[in-house]
Amino acid sequence: MPETSVSWTRRGDVALVVIDNPPLNALGPETSRALAAAVARSEADPSVVATVVTGARDTFVAGADIRQLGGPSTPVGERATDRIDLSDKPVVAAIDGFAIGGGLEIALACHLRIATARAELGLSESLIGVIPGGGGTQRLPRLVGVERALEIVQSGRRIAAPEAQALGIVDRLVDDPAALEETAFAKARRLAAAGDLRRIRDLPVPGDEAAHAEAFAAARRRADATKAGNRKALHAAVEAVEAACALPFAAGMARESEIFASLVGSPEAKALRYAFFAEREARKVPGMPKLDPAPRFAAGAVIGAGTMGSGIAMSMAEAGMGVKLVETDMDAARRGLSRIEATYAASVARGSLSADEKARRLARIEPVVDYAALSACDVVVEAVFEDAALKCSIFDRLAQVTQPGALLLSNTSTLPLDLFVGGNPRAADVAGAHFFSPANVMKLVEVVDGPQTTPAALARVFAFARQLGKVAVVAGSCDGFVANRSRAPFQTEYQLMVEEGAAPEQVDRVMMEFGYPIGPFMVGDIAGLDIGYAVRKLNLAKDPDFRTLPIADRLVEMGRKGQKTGAGWYRYEPGSRKPVSDPVVAQVIEDVCRERGIARRAIPDAEVLRRPLFAAVNEACRILEEGMAVRPGDVDVMWLHGFGFPRQQGGLMHWADGIGAAAIAGQIDMWRDALGARWQVCDLLRELARSGRPFSSIESRWRAKP
Ligand code: NAD
Repeated sequence: MPETSVSWTRRGDVALVVIDNPPLNALGPETSRALAAAVARSEADPSVVATVVTGARDTFVAGADIRQLGGPSTPVGERATDRIDLSDKPVVAAIDGFAIGGGLEIALACHLRIATARAELGLSESLIGVIPGGGGTQRLPRLVGVERALEIVQSGRRIAAPEAQALGIVDRLVDDPAALEETAFAKARRLAAAGDLRRIRDLPVPGDEAAHAEAFAAARRRADATKAGNRKALHAAVEAVEAACALPFAAGMARESEIFASLVGSPEAKALRYAFFAEREARKVPGMPKLDPAPRFAAGAVIGAGTMGSGIAMSMAEAGMGVKLVETDMDAARRGLSRIEATYAASVARGSLSADEKARRLARIEPVVDYAALSACDVVVEAVFEDAALKCSIFDRLAQVTQPGALLLSNTSTLPLDLFVGGNPRAADVAGAHFFSPANVMKLVEVVDGPQTTPAALARVFAFARQLGKVAVVAGSCDGFVANRSRAPFQTEYQLMVEEGAAPEQVDRVMMEFGYPIGPFMVGDIAGLDIGYAVRKLNLAKDPDFRTLPIADRLVEMGRKGQKTGAGWYRYEPGSRKPVSDPVVAQVIEDVCRERGIARRAIPDAEVLRRPLFAAVNEACRILEEGMAVRPGDVDVMWLHGFGFPRQQGGLMHWADGIGAAAIAGQIDMWRDALGARWQVCDLLRELARSGRPFSSIESRWRAKP
C-alpha cells in the first residue's frame, strides 16, 4: 500500500488540508480516511472556523487509485465526502490541475469550489466501466441538472475550468495559480462569517419529471449506441441519476454504492481497467528518454497524397500543423488536396465539422512538388507506394533537403526499415510511423524502431503521434511489424473457415457478439476486396505454393469488389451501406468447394471465435519471443486502436489470459493434427502452458539501444 499523506496545518483561523499522494494525488482508501480525519480535526479545533482543501504539486486529485479498485481494499472506510459535506464549518476546494473522478467528487462535497483557469474537471469513471462511487451521480444532477449531469458522467470527458464555471460546477475562477490559495482562504473566512454552508445535498434536482424522463431516454439511447465497451456502466449511470431524482439524498447515495459495487468486479470493468493501464504502460519504452517539455511540431510534410498520405496530412492539419503535401506532379498533389476537401465537406454536411474549421485546416495544407519546400519541416512522413527502392530514393533526398534533427518517418506497413535506410546519413532520425486506415480516424500509430533510430528520436516520434491525438506503440523492425503480423493469421483463419463450412454471416455475427462493432467480412466489403486480391496474385507469382483464397478471388473476378461495386461478401441496395445476405455468395462458396473437393461441415460458434484469435495469440507470442514487442499489453493496445478489438475484452492477450495458455496450446496441438502444419505452438506459448504462467507475466525481451 502506498504511503499516503494528507497534511493539516493552521493558517490563522483557517485550516489548510493538502492531499499529497504522488504523482497525481490519486485517492485510495487510506488517503480518503486521512482526508476525513483532517476535516474532523478542523471541526474539533475551536480556533478553526473553516477549511481549505487542496492538492500538492499543482493538481487537486486526478481520480481514484484505480489499482486498488475491485481488490480486497475497495473503499469501505469512512467516506471523506460525507465527512466534508456534513462538517458544520465551511470547507472550500481550491482546485488546480486535475479534479477528475474521485477528485471532483471531493470538490462537490465541499461547500464552495475555486479553480484556476487552467484546471480540468470531470467524472471519468464510465471509461473504466464503473460509475462515480463518491456521490458524483447524486450531487452533480443537483448542481447542473439531469441532462448535463448524464452527459458528463456518460462521456467521462474533461471539462475545462471556464466551462465548469459556466455550468455552475466551479464557483469562482482565478487566473493566477499563485493566487488560488489566498482566494480560497478569503472565501472560506467569508462563508464562516456568514454561517453559509452551501451543501449540494440539500438542493433539489432542477427540472420536472417529464424533462427528466426525456433526458433518461436520451441517455439510454446513447448507452445502447456506445462502441466504447462500457455499455453497462452507461446504463448504470442512468439508474444512479434516476435514484438522485427519485430518492432522498442518503438513499440515493446508498443506491449509487450498490450500483458501483455491482459493476466494479465485473469482467467488463476489469477489462476496461486493464486496457487503461496497458495504454499508460505503452508510453514507456525501455531506454527511451522522457522529453520535458514535450517537443511541438509546427511544420510538417507528407510524401505521397494517396489513401494514407491524405489521411496523415489531415491528422497533421487538424493538430494545427502546416503541411506540405508532396506528389510526383502538381496534378497528383492537387488531387490529394481535393480528396481531403471532399472528406471534410462530408464532415461539414454531417454536422461534425464547421465550415470555418474546414477552411482553417485546408489552408494549412499546401500541395507541392519541389523538395526545396521541405527545408523548414521538423517532421516528414513518407507514404508512397510500398516499394523499398522508391522509399530508399525518397529518404536519400529527404536527408539532403531537411534540416538536421527533423524526423524522417515512413508509413510502410510491411517493409523492415533496414531495406531502405541503410547508409542514409540521417538514419538516426529515421523511424517508422505506421498509421492505420483511415489515417485521420484510426488512433494507432505503430512506431517502428529503425536499425539506427536513436532513443531520443524515438521519443520525438511518440511526441509527434501524441500531438496528433494518436496512440503510439513501439514495434521492432521485422516483416509486418507487430500489429499486422499478429493479425495476419487471424485474417487467414476466418477466411479458411468459410471454405470449411462457416458462412460469412456466421463469422460476422460471432465477432459482433464478441464485441467487434462490425464483422471482418463487412470490413472487407468496406475496404474493397480487390486490394487483397492483387496482393494474393503478386504472392502467387512469387511463390507457386502460396495459399490463395479461391472464394474471395472468385467474388472479385465476378466484379464483386465490395461496397464500391454494390456487392462483395454481401450485396448493397443503391445508396445504402447496409449489408444484405446474398444467395449468390452462398452459391459461389458451394461451387468453389465442390470444384476443389472440399468437404464442408458445420463449424460451431466457439470454434469460429477461437480459431482466428488463438492463431493471433500464438503469433503474438512469437513476436514477444523475438523481442519485437516490449510487452503483451502493447499488442493489446495495438489491437484496440488499430483493429477495433472490443475494449470490454481488454485486448487480445488479456482475453487469452481468461482462457489460459495450457488450454490454448492444447487446442492448437489438436488443430495441427486436424488442419495442418501452419498450426505450431511457439516456444514461448509452450513454456507458459507448461509452467501455468499467465501471458501477463511474459518478460520483456526487447533490446533497448544504448
Ligand atoms: P496509394 O497508392 O493510395 O498512394 C501512394 C501515393 O504515393 C500515390 O498518390 C502516388 O502518386 C504517390 N507517389 C508515388 N511515388 C511518389 C514519389 N516519388 N513522390 C511523391 N509521391 C509519390 O497508397 P497508400 O495505400 O496510401 O499506401 C502508401 C503507403 O502506406 C504504403 O507504404 C503502404 O504500405 C502504407 N500503408 C497503407 C495502408 C492502407 O491501408 N492503404 C495502411 C498502412 C500503411
